[in-house]
Amino acid sequence: MIASVTAASQGKSVVLLHPGLFIGGMTSSGLGLTDFGNTHVIGGRSRQFYRDVGKHYRRDEEWLFEPHGASKVFDQYLQLSGVQLELRQFVGRAVVEHRRLREIVMLSGLRVRAKCFIDATYEGDLMALSGVTYTVGREPNSAYGETIMACRCATNISSVLTSILMSNRENRHPACFRSSTNQTPRPKAQAITAFRVEKQMLCYWLDRRLARNDKIS
Ligand SMILES: Cc1cc2nc3c(=O)[nH]c(=O)nc-3n(C[C@H](O)[C@H](O)[C@H](O)COP(=O)(O)OP(=O)(O)OC[C@H]3O[C@@H](n4cnc5c(N)ncnc54)[C@H](O)[C@@H]3O)c2cc1C
Repeated sequence: MIASVTAASQGKSVVLLHPGLFIGGMTSSGLGLTDFGNTHVIGGRSRQFYRDVGKHYRRDEEWLFEPHGASKVFDQYLQLSGVQLELRQFVGRAVVEHRRLREIVMLSGLRVRAKCFIDATYEGDLMALSGVTYTVGREPNSAYGETIMACRCATNISSVLTSILMSNRENRHPACFRSSTNQTPRPKAQAITAFRVEKQMLCYWLDRRLARNDKIS
């Protein structure tokens, strides 16, 4: 949705092919309790979307919304953008010539020829039909010479740590939830931030150890 509107705003003629009766994917299908982590890393049109949803609720910005709130914003984007929307279209076949995707044929019989295709199907249905190579899951660091990509087995260890910390009895706060000066329990938001920092540090430490092939017990 955002890709189509962005391409149209840059002067491209865009056809948006969608299998359902309303657009917006997860965002307009009930995924309205946004687990955003750190809002500062969300920008561009994505951030604008949450601001526009905010207008629907008469707020500056809104991250918790109903499907119809999101749909209303997406409908406005479409109307303003000039994107041609084709509903109830299921991709059936990809026409590849000289290693380039030239055309897709929908199950309805509609044929779409374009210079550029964006596969936004979540599971890469068009990529699979086109026969491009892809990886399922995460490649090893060695595939692209990466050294600092995200936590893997460390993530499991840290989630175990989460359970241990969270299962502490109500009034017995683990050390990282206490202020270092007066040892009084921190307010919840502060405690959660402190916990996230601890978790990231643990992941970083474990990843460094793993990168060096250290034994971790
Ligand atoms: C239960 C759950 C909770 C989540 N919670 C969060 C969260 O709190 N915060 C967060 O940041 N992320 C969350 N995510 C992840 C987030 O939803 C996805 O990363 C995001 O929606 C992906 O956006 P997308 O546009 O790639 O896919 P989608 O939003 O899924 O859109 C894909 C679109 O492609 C269409 N489509 C599918 N197959 C085809 C096809 N063959 N032909 C044509 N169209 C097709 C679908 O109908 C859909 O409209 C959650 C995911 C799940 C499942």
